[in-house]
Amino acid sequence: MNTPSTAAHPPVVEAGPRPTQERRLVTAIPGPRSQELQRRKERAVSRSVGTVLPVYVEAAGGGVVVDVDGNSLIDLGSGIAVTTVGNAHPRVVQALAAQAAAFTHTCFMVTPYDGYVEVAEALNRLTPGAHEKRSVLFNSGAEAVENAVKIARAHTGRQAVVTFDHAYHGRTNLTMAMTAKNMPYKHGFGPFAAEVYRAPMSYPFRDGLPGPEAARRALDVIDKQVGAENLAAMVIEPIQGEGGFIVPASGFLAALAQWCRQHGVVFVADEVQTGFARTGAMFACDHEDVVPDLVVTAKGIAGGMPLAAVTGRAEIMDAPHVGGLGGTYGGNPVACAAALAVLATIEEEQLVERARRIGASLTERLTALQAADPRLGEVRGRGAMIALEVVEPGTLEPDADLTRRVAAAAHAAGLIVLTCGTWGNVLRFLPPLAMPDHLLVEALDVLEAIFEETR
Ligand SMILES: *Cc1c(COP(=O)(O)O)cnc(C)c1O
Repeated sequence: MNTPSTAAHPPVVEAGPRPTQERRLVTAIPGPRSQELQRRKERAVSRSVGTVLPVYVEAAGGGVVVDVDGNSLIDLGSGIAVTTVGNAHPRVVQALAAQAAAFTHTCFMVTPYDGYVEVAEALNRLTPGAHEKRSVLFNSGAEAVENAVKIARAHTGRQAVVTFDHAYHGRTNLTMAMTAKNMPYKHGFGPFAAEVYRAPMSYPFRDGLPGPEAARRALDVIDKQVGAENLAAMVIEPIQGEGGFIVPASGFLAALAQWCRQHGVVFVADEVQTGFARTGAMFACDHEDVVPDLVVTAKGIAGGMPLAAVTGRAEIMDAPHVGGLGGTYGGNPVACAAALAVLATIEEEQLVERARRIGASLTERLTALQAADPRLGEVRGRGAMIALEVVEPGTLEPDADLTRRVAAAAHAAGLIVLTCGTWGNVLRFLPPLAMPDHLLVEALDVLEAIFEETR
């Protein structure tokens, strides 16, 4: 760069100092400055955009989020499974700052750049299966899911799409149709896209079915209500996210994938929430040795920069005509630089292994808690994607009220926890993999005390 740097245009920045790795409460949650900002938000931002925990963020990194009042909260959400490598990871910050200083956008469809190609190469290499692959980059998970459907339709010449009970695929028109839950995602927003069908999901805690049997139940519905010859794609989250961290019974995914192969249906894994080391494997499908035709990724891919992708079999990915896919921002160079830094960090810091260890600690503590508390119906998940399903003692009856109260108490105590599930009765834990052990232990101590107090 020839221009001298000025205060207004600083040179490539250093990552800020990592916040002290501690839980620290100096005001009530939310504090006065956050409350003031929340009042401004209510006057400026549509109420349709909700707030889980109205603390306004000043800095974040490692395992904590620091708010404008000086409180430091333990992050068990990672901005919904996004900052997997840790917030503002120095390597990611350096990479995106350097790219932003070089150029911020040209539009890959106008004058391309190598970052996009390099991300595509990495995705082709890392996603399940050794076959020849291609990738396309987009801006959000929902946009990528929509494009996976476009690709499957172009490849098969068929229209129908099947998704599952409890599924979440996004908030655009087509992905609303694919999503199962009415409130808050769909209510009042119809009509929805046509040719989307729903099949029963494997939900071991509630149906008790072995995987192959649950698959037969789903495939019978699909066969009778849709017909394989009409079906372009089956789209499934290998572990459901918003639906409640539902891990299908072993063999369920493999049976579906095999049926799709037999009938020329494109099998699409929506790994938007499960991808990139989160579950203790690079992708959740790896746990079941399932090789999808197409894999959809987003969230954890680029440390919070908007980026998403569809990756899959070359002959399917190349089915749409030239110019048929794309978008102004898809594969933005700054987002691509961040993604390459994220992927290098996962490898260098052995985060797949780290996710496994976090999962083992979470599962051990929560299972011990569950053994002594009949309100905790099930502990499930893989790696750093673990959930607690809360029920009326000893039954399958969801207890959303208790779940809400526990989440609220956790927030007040300085833990960022999220809920999910069709009935809103699941507490989910998605810590950044940069979470230090002592904070994970402290978070579980706090949670245990909250469950005691809410007896
Ligand atoms: C979050 C999510 C999406 C939608 O991603 P956006 O980037 O919010 O559009 C799609 N599928 C799954 C499984 C998700 O968790």
